[in-house]
Amino acid sequence: MPEPEVDLLKIYDAVIIGSGAAGGMAAHVLTSHGMKVLLLEAGKKLPIEQELRSMEWPYENKYRGELPPDSHALTFNEYTIRRPPFGPGFEKSKRLHSYIGDSDYVKNIVVDERENPYTGTNYAWVRARCLGGKTNIWGRLALRLSDYDFKAKDRDGYGENWPIRYSDIAPYYDKVDLYLGITGVKENLPYLPDSIFQRPTKLNCAEVTLKEGIAKMGRVLTQYRAGVTSDGLKHNKYRSRCYGRGACERKGGCDIHAAFDSPTGLIYPAMDTGNLTLRTNSVAREITVDSNTGRASGVHFIDSETMKDYHVRAKVVVVAASTLESARLLLNSKSRQHPNGLANSSGHVGHNFCEHVMGPGIAGKQKSLVGKPPTLDDGRPGGFYLTRFRNLTERHPKFIRGYGFEGSSGCAMFPRGTDVHGFGASFKEEVRKNQGAYIGMGAFGEVLARYENYVDLDPVVKDKWGVPALRFHYKFGDNEHHMARDMKETAQEMFEAAGFEIVHVSDRVLTEGWSIHELGTARMGDDPKTSVLNQFEQSHDVKNLFVVDGSAFVNASCQNPTWTIMALCWRSCDYLADELKKGNL
Ligand SMILES: Cc1cc2nc3c(=O)[nH]c(=O)nc-3n(C[C@H](O)[C@H](O)[C@H](O)COP(=O)(O)OP(=O)(O)OC[C@H]3O[C@@H](n4cnc5c(N)ncnc54)[C@H](O)[C@@H]3O)c2cc1C
Ligand code: SF4
Repeated sequence: MPEPEVDLLKIYDAVIIGSGAAGGMAAHVLTSHGMKVLLLEAGKKLPIEQELRSMEWPYENKYRGELPPDSHALTFNEYTIRRPPFGPGFEKSKRLHSYIGDSDYVKNIVVDERENPYTGTNYAWVRARCLGGKTNIWGRLALRLSDYDFKAKDRDGYGENWPIRYSDIAPYYDKVDLYLGITGVKENLPYLPDSIFQRPTKLNCAEVTLKEGIAKMGRVLTQYRAGVTSDGLKHNKYRSRCYGRGACERKGGCDIHAAFDSPTGLIYPAMDTGNLTLRTNSVAREITVDSNTGRASGVHFIDSETMKDYHVRAKVVVVAASTLESARLLLNSKSRQHPNGLANSSGHVGHNFCEHVMGPGIAGKQKSLVGKPPTLDDGRPGGFYLTRFRNLTERHPKFIRGYGFEGSSGCAMFPRGTDVHGFGASFKEEVRKNQGAYIGMGAFGEVLARYENYVDLDPVVKDKWGVPALRFHYKFGDNEHHMARDMKETAQEMFEAAGFEIVHVSDRVLTEGWSIHELGTARMGDDPKTSVLNQFEQSHDVKNLFVVDGSAFVNASCQNPTWTIMALCWRSCDYLADELKKGNL
């Protein structure tokens, strides 16, 4: 698709920074309102199908799917013993990736850590700088939040409530479901509202055993709610319905785009309206303001390849660079009127940073399945989701908020977790016999939003383009550690209830950042003294500035955030378009 040239003399109705879930959604909604929009994306437009190669077998790949020898992905231990920016000690690696960049299929999607340094406390910061951002490789678990999350303070007194309730956002969740497609099964749970689901994936034998085993305890296991179209989308010519193919489990994306990604789901259809101009390789370094009014006037950006600096003007600036990059951009946008960074009169930009704690999990075996013929279990976009059960009706004595488990069972292209030892033919036979009986799951828990968990700018370190880097001041606290111990205990009790043989169980907490669900660095609220944005993700300080990604979250909940990011963004962009029409921006 040819990309129109950016007109630097024009004043666009809106400029959007970032093309992931949030930026793509903003482009879709604003162009559908007839606005002339410019989308700036720092990364390249990759030939994504050639990167993902979803139908490639491992033996067809030169490196069997692993990284080329001159590249390295950080391991858990390396995150633990080394502090970013990961300098000495990695000299041999031409490219250095975050832990997620450990395969040949994602090596060009994730960033090179050395070109994009950060400093401070340990944090596994996963970034995808290319058209579509992290949506090219996301895990697709698409969950709604509820008033248990939006009004969590009313329930346990901690933190702040959101300035919206579920009924405000429910119609927008519906719009996202219908426009992008989601699979799942209705459960009628007040704390995990249902979507408008397309055909669900099937649970396999051990998953049904677990579902039935824990139902006796009042706990709920449901099919993976995947941001995938299983019935197809008549209004979108760029996406196919899911054909249940084997490499889905690799999570290196979906080359027929049954799984949602921002370019095919949102950006290409927005370009078809004739209202969207896309410029890739464009690193936004500063949002500029009018020297008289202090209102946003445009964006300075650097061409990532030529290093040339440009300025573009717009009536409204929409920041969607992802939670941490958006905070960095606001903090880097200092001016006489906004000396602490843009939209930061409250001092809350970069603070209240929260996410999900990960690590505790369990692996087991349903013995009755050992030796049974192999089944196709990884040709589906996900296994199961075991929903939150803590602090719903009773209060846990040691921690507040909750957690859920993601898991799956059965045969996979690469058999996992069977705990078989040995070598040679007998080893292979053992693996074959056991793999279909395997079941595993890992927990995702809410990390409390705390003012003292924050990012600011490093005074010295800059990225390849000369933009000051982020510095982390972020640690899990007691609530997360108590929760992690409980995750292990409940995982064990549920596997026992299902009658599984337990192979492995752990309460080891992974490095901060591992969940790739960073949130909260420019939270919404009614009070401009303690929040950055209002309920429409509009800056309290700068009326024509909107921040529409996970930065706006008030707490992390324990549900994965992307569907909520997009529903909120849709709501905010409808409001934005309306306000612009009324002449209020
Ligand atoms: C492996 C993996 C699994 C995941 N699984 C799930 C899941 O199951 N469920 C779920 O809900 N979420 C999941 N996520 C998280 C999900 O991908 C993110 O929540 C979502 O992509 C956030 O959207 P975003 O638009 O805020 O950020 P991104 O998708 O990261 O997009 C931000 C874009 O902004 C661009 N950008 C950054 N800085 C600048 C700048 N200065 N100038 C111009 N452009 C800039 C980036 O290049 C990027 O393209 C997963 C993520 C990963 C990596
Ligand atoms: S199983 Fe479906 S979503 Fe997954 S890669 Fe295949 S077609 Fe795409």
